[in-house]
Amino acid sequence: MSAEATDLLAHLIRNECVNDGTRESGFESRSVDVLAQYLGGSGLDLERYEAQPGRENLVARIEGSDPTAPTLLFMGHTDVVPVNPDGWSRDPFGGEIVDGEVWGRGAVDMLNLTATMAVAFKQLADEGFTPRGTLIYLAVADEENLGTWGAEHLLDNERDAVFADYVVTESGGFQMPHADGPRLPVIVGEKGSYWCRISVRGTPGHASQPFRTDNALVTAAEVVRRLAEYKPPTMIHDTWRRFIEGVDFGPEWNARLLDDATLTEFCEELPLGLARQAHACTHTTFAPTIIHGGTKTNVIPDLVDVEVDIRTLPGQKAADIQAMLADALGDLAGQVDVTPFDENESTASPTDSPMWDAMANVSNRLVANSSLVPFLTVGATDARFFRRAGSVAYGFGLFSKKLSFDDYASMFHGNDERVDIESLELSTQLWHALAHELLA
Ligand SMILES: [Zn+2]
Repeated sequence: MSAEATDLLAHLIRNECVNDGTRESGFESRSVDVLAQYLGGSGLDLERYEAQPGRENLVARIEGSDPTAPTLLFMGHTDVVPVNPDGWSRDPFGGEIVDGEVWGRGAVDMLNLTATMAVAFKQLADEGFTPRGTLIYLAVADEENLGTWGAEHLLDNERDAVFADYVVTESGGFQMPHADGPRLPVIVGEKGSYWCRISVRGTPGHASQPFRTDNALVTAAEVVRRLAEYKPPTMIHDTWRRFIEGVDFGPEWNARLLDDATLTEFCEELPLGLARQAHACTHTTFAPTIIHGGTKTNVIPDLVDVEVDIRTLPGQKAADIQAMLADALGDLAGQVDVTPFDENESTASPTDSPMWDAMANVSNRLVANSSLVPFLTVGATDARFFRRAGSVAYGFGLFSKKLSFDDYASMFHGNDERVDIESLELSTQLWHALAHELLA
């Protein structure tokens, strides 16, 4: 089966479905064509849903015999983020296979899973799998932007075609070494977002006499500085605790990683990758990312807009974030208007579910002595739409032990993205066994 998964993945990489955030990008229909052709050979009923020209989503279903039995959805996205080819040692869209690895943008995010889910699904169809609960395969567009033309569109307009009680999508499942056997992180939740524009007001004037003027750009610089310096409170939430205790960094590190009074200090000492993760997982974060303002070199600006990417923790509401902003800005709060333009509350699924148990059993058979640990991702995935619709949704997959957590983290949206064929084989077996375990 690994030959089919390798071939399909290379094909999806070569389709170069780059999502740059514009409506005209992505053109995922090319990969829907490839997947439809691959799955169509097994006589499966396929439905294509076009949310925008060229931005299609593909659904395949194996209907269950018992309408009351729980249903399972395998969801993979077909789009990828842009690349800078200068940083790559090989063609990012070549889909080359070198020394047992498939190279190219999307190899770990997440065309590897989109491909292996399709291979397992076809395998199940070919063997005449007749589950009690329905199994759905979904290839979605637009995950790498906001999911507008993919998961969100489908749940808003085609809910009956895609909704399932249990959903599995990216990411997780890399092996974290432990004396008692590898720990496999499962994404059980994700942070929320509160993207906002802070409009800083001033008074226009002639820039030839700046003394005692009210310059919005100077005030905006101070707003940015205060946001960068702001120290939000540390939250040691349950998912973080269970992750640290499960992965087990040793008694000293465990204690420091779970101490809300000193974690921020400890983050100063940790290796950079872990420090950023540990900090983001346990704090609301404020990242000023865009600034616009000024009209002319000789005019004191009266309006400057600062855009801030704020990521929120489980349980936080808009009012909590507004209070933190007021705290961060202090006496400048009265000189600015805060306008949120994209708000998503954090979502999470419980771990005491039949789906969790099925994933644990199957993984343990495929990766000797392994066990699952829950993890909160600091990014966003399409799982959030399904959690809000009522599904239990996890991010998972399996990787061979060749892929370390550091490699995985650096390849995500990074250079020289690639995956080994053994990982593709493991994931294919995971999906196949999971469908049997949960739906039979
Ligand atoms: Zn992804």
